[in-house]
Amino acid sequence: MKEVKTPKKPLIFYYVVAIVLVFLFNMLMMPWMAERSIREVDYTTFVQMTENGEVGQVQIQEQDNRILFTDKDGKVVYRTAMVPDDSLLPRLLEANIPVAGQEIEQASLLSSILGWVLPIVLFVAIGQLLSRKMMQRMGGPNSMMFNMGKSNAKVYVKSADGIRFTDVAGEDEAKENLAEIVDYLQDPSKYKDIGASMPKGVLLVGPPGTGKTLLAKAVAGEANVPFFTMSGSEFVEMFVGMGASKVRDLFRQAKEKAPCIVFIDEIDAIGKKRDGQMGGNDEREQTLNQLLTEMDGFEGNNGVIILAATNRPESLDPALTRPGRFDRRVPVELPDLKGREEILKVHAKKVKIADNVDFSRIARMASGASGAELANIVNEAALRAVRDKRRFATQEDLEESIEVVIAGYQKKNAIMTDHEKQIVSYHEIGHALVAAKQTNSAPVQKITIVPRTSGALGYTMQVEEGNHVLMSREEIENKIATFTGGRAAEEVVFGSVTTGASNDIEQATKLARAMIARYGMSDDFDMVALETVRNQYLGGDTSLACSEETSAKVDQQVVELVRKQHQKAIRILQENRSKLDELAKFLYEKETITGEEFMAILQAP
Ligand code: ADP
Ligand code: MG
Ligand code: ZN
Repeated sequence: MKEVKTPKKPLIFYYVVAIVLVFLFNMLMMPWMAERSIREVDYTTFVQMTENGEVGQVQIQEQDNRILFTDKDGKVVYRTAMVPDDSLLPRLLEANIPVAGQEIEQASLLSSILGWVLPIVLFVAIGQLLSRKMMQRMGGPNSMMFNMGKSNAKVYVKSADGIRFTDVAGEDEAKENLAEIVDYLQDPSKYKDIGASMPKGVLLVGPPGTGKTLLAKAVAGEANVPFFTMSGSEFVEMFVGMGASKVRDLFRQAKEKAPCIVFIDEIDAIGKKRDGQMGGNDEREQTLNQLLTEMDGFEGNNGVIILAATNRPESLDPALTRPGRFDRRVPVELPDLKGREEILKVHAKKVKIADNVDFSRIARMASGASGAELANIVNEAALRAVRDKRRFATQEDLEESIEVVIAGYQKKNAIMTDHEKQIVSYHEIGHALVAAKQTNSAPVQKITIVPRTSGALGYTMQVEEGNHVLMSREEIENKIATFTGGRAAEEVVFGSVTTGASNDIEQATKLARAMIARYGMSDDFDMVALETVRNQYLGGDTSLACSEETSAKVDQQVVELVRKQHQKAIRILQENRSKLDELAKFLYEKETITGEEFMAILQAP
């Protein structure tokens, strides 16, 4: 999809042109003009002309060491150099020639006009030009002032590189949902006949990088209708009060072009709850109100479908999500194993890649990656191939790229002492061993202890947890024990602790707190919600909603819970001390251990 834009030149360009023009003019034109209007003669000619009575007036310019004089009619101006001549004045007086002050200067009036007025005119003209350009930049085409509130929604029309549903891999439910919209846009009459009305608005929600924007474009590509797109933040820019009129204008344009799609990306920028709190944003609320009004304003079935995308659905104003507005919600979730494999394949088509690449293996290794990350993995693999002067990317390139994208590049000369390397080996094996002993299955796909640019000292590739949605109390407790396993190994083996466990501590605490405050898994609080999640798709921040005393009790229980699991982890490691040593030694020497190697050593007699 292409949009047509006039190329913009930077402001400075115009200023420089103006200045150069003025300079050129003054340096070349002015002397030339002066030459034209003043005739140079020698002093003798001047004396002779005086005597012949051919001189009209005379002006003596002592400072410039010259004399200007005119002919009888005052039309031609002559100039001559001043020569020391005491008899000059008496002679002039005798000939009755007026010795003038300013009049002769008038002869060069033309040149002063050109020298001073013209540059000013030039500047004003350029100024006008510039302000017109500015106006155009702010609004549509046409002239000044009147279109300040015009929306600058870009219209994408059908084009050869239009994005289709086939470009969006996985996300089958979302595509199915949207296919109906496409069908409607292609043939609205089918729906009108039976009296069914399409939802006016469809809200795509999901974590960042899962293909929401991509899906919206694909809908337009499939339906082959005009596509207006604007991001939420664009509504609220530049001028106060323009947001609302932009919305109005956008919808006016859309109605003219129906059937069509209006896509508002990152709608949370304008669609936040109007909570009347301090620091409320009037501009934003007006824009939102206008949007609500517009959505009510047009009847169903007029062929305008509004798509919107956000990763903060919980922050949207309830008025936006009520039936009749964005009443259909399409979740665009992180891809599952199959989805990841398909996304990898879609993007692999864009690069040269070896035939024998096992995409399902890559997909399994990249568990938890979003569509955008998978696209990045493929690209990193291609870059790696170029760096190593190969003509196509291989399996190995892809596998290394997963770690690059998720954990950062390998640090080439990281400074890690031998002792530190040993600690890291024990720490990572500690996690894995505690996990393996609790579930009796391979806990990891791979552990490496090569430091990464992200700051991680090692990297553990977890095993896909399968598609289960519910977690039992025991499973969460086991998970917490696994998180504490790293630190536990340090304690068991070295009797001291390091800073390497900060992330583990954070995660273990989060889980324990959720068990007590959200999942109702404590004995004291029964099924009471003590905290609420704010950003489901962006990290999952929580806020407490309970009294101080309760909050203190929760803290206490969290500590107890984590401590209990920590003790369990220490016990497991102590009971399996010889395996711990053996596995840590293997990792220390090889720097990498796969899930199979891990299990082989663990299960060996
Ligand atoms: P967001 O959900 O944040 O709007 P985007 O739609 O902008 O994410 O996706 C970013 C990029 O990630 C896309 O341009 C595409 O290359 C890739 N991508 C994400 N999801 C998918 C998918 N399901 N299939 C193919 N590519 C995807
Ligand atoms: Mg997006
Ligand atoms: Zn750890």
